[in-house]
Amino acid sequence: MSNTLSRRDFLKLTGIGAAVSAVLTGCGPMARYIVRKPYTSMPEYNQTGLSTYYASTCRECPAGCGIIVRTKEGRAITIEGNPQHPVNRGRLCSRGVTAQQGLYNPDRIRGPVFQARGDASRAKPINWDEAISVVQQALASSPEQIAFLLGAAPDHLFDLVSEICETIGAPPPVRYNALTTFEGRSTLLEAARLTFGEEALPYFDLANAEVTFAFGANFLENWLSPVAYTRAYGEFRRGRSTRRGYLVVFEPRQSLTAGNADEWIPIRPGSEAILAAALNRLVAEARGKPVSPAFSTVTVSAAAAASGVSEEKIRQLAQFFAAADHPLAIPGGSALAQADGLMTARSLLYLNAVVDNLGQPGGVFLTPAEASATDFAAVKELVRRMMDSEVKVLFIHGVNPLFELPGALGFGEALAKVPMVISFASFPDETALASDYVLPDHTPLESFGYQRVLAGSDRPAYSSFQPVVVPLYDTRATADVLLAAVKLLGVQAAQAFPYQDEVEYIQQKLLPLINAGGFYTAAEIFTFWSRWLQYGGWWKAEAELTAPQQATPPEETFPFTPPA
Ligand code: SF4
Repeated sequence: MSNTLSRRDFLKLTGIGAAVSAVLTGCGPMARYIVRKPYTSMPEYNQTGLSTYYASTCRECPAGCGIIVRTKEGRAITIEGNPQHPVNRGRLCSRGVTAQQGLYNPDRIRGPVFQARGDASRAKPINWDEAISVVQQALASSPEQIAFLLGAAPDHLFDLVSEICETIGAPPPVRYNALTTFEGRSTLLEAARLTFGEEALPYFDLANAEVTFAFGANFLENWLSPVAYTRAYGEFRRGRSTRRGYLVVFEPRQSLTAGNADEWIPIRPGSEAILAAALNRLVAEARGKPVSPAFSTVTVSAAAAASGVSEEKIRQLAQFFAAADHPLAIPGGSALAQADGLMTARSLLYLNAVVDNLGQPGGVFLTPAEASATDFAAVKELVRRMMDSEVKVLFIHGVNPLFELPGALGFGEALAKVPMVISFASFPDETALASDYVLPDHTPLESFGYQRVLAGSDRPAYSSFQPVVVPLYDTRATADVLLAAVKLLGVQAAQAFPYQDEVEYIQQKLLPLINAGGFYTAAEIFTFWSRWLQYGGWWKAEAELTAPQQATPPEETFPFTPPA
């Protein structure tokens, strides 16, 4: 057979092609202009060559950075920072920039399945009606035998699950995320409560500080709100023409932040508390302040022996900090993961009070957001309940506990004792494979929702999610699945959740914001909703940071046992 194409054949083929194109581009349903399909399955007529932009929120970590997603022919092309967003102001970290990798990951779970635990090859596809029926029957179990384990995002799902648990009488959902544990968020929150008497995360004004001592707070990489702190770090370094900020990082490992510091002090793990106490004592003495009894028994020689830092160096650093105009001490991350982590955090927060920087430029403020953090004790209690066969139904969303929890906690063993495990995972991770049902949620770029901003913003802020493409596969919003299942539970539950779908639920939750001093207002929810989607969330028009009104040092004197 000849491989050549004659001119006559070519004209015949192009004639047929032109006729087909004429049909496809003729009058059709208006819907085709708003269906955002990936180009792989999109008819040719819909390729306009124009970009469409959507404001949404990065969900690669709980920081809640605002993103602008450029789409073309229904496909998410690039992700950039939302320049108006109060957390990241147009910047993103490498995870945020590459977030569409999750959307287009070929390993995604493409529809609801029932499976033999641990054997994905025996997974049996089910339809969503069957899936909702399974969830309804699970929710109809004895309430005290139901448990929800959720990740750090999204907040609207956490709020909905909390309300469902309250309505049916089940224990409140447990929230866990390895990242928030590594960053020491709950320890910092508790330290702030004990030191400042407020349930709020501290806001460290790095941008206006002159000398910063960071203990384990790896803020250029993954601590609290890395993009917000990286932006502030840029200001700290080069934002002022007259002086350049000086950063000293105390931590055993050379993190990205330590690598960028003027000085990295590689201390021994576990010596953070005694070193922080010694600095407190030396800085108070240098500033002519009374030394708190908590630190009065600490000797520099003991701190040097414990930390591996010479006495001379400790004294020199303390003098340097005490003499600075805007010194700032930041506790976080690995420093708070030690046995004395809470004491380390309290000592360093108090050190800020010793140098009078509370509520001052370059000092410590309190964030206006509602405080919340992973409560590891609640995770341990859940594992105990599972181990004691008190949990008959476990729902898991947004977290992979078989991978993220320490093996010593025994989550795998406990999971085997739960008769029904329902996962909402998007990927076949360890926990999804060990579940009975996997009912995949949409990935973040296909989802509606909101996230409360807890750190990194100088004002109350909610970040919004919206789909930037139509869902690629037969996935369904977990909130929609739960709402549909709850309606089947009975009249009382249906009346408690009268929402048609997830979006209606979110809109109802946003009602208090429509005239709450945001940078936009609206007369009713539908106008508010369009702006909410347009701007990528809602935040107050003015900064609302507050200064701590008091500072209490630790009551006890440390044992200060040098690490073995
Ligand atoms: S810091 Fe911001 S951009 Fe980076 S992963 Fe977290 S939310 Fe996304």
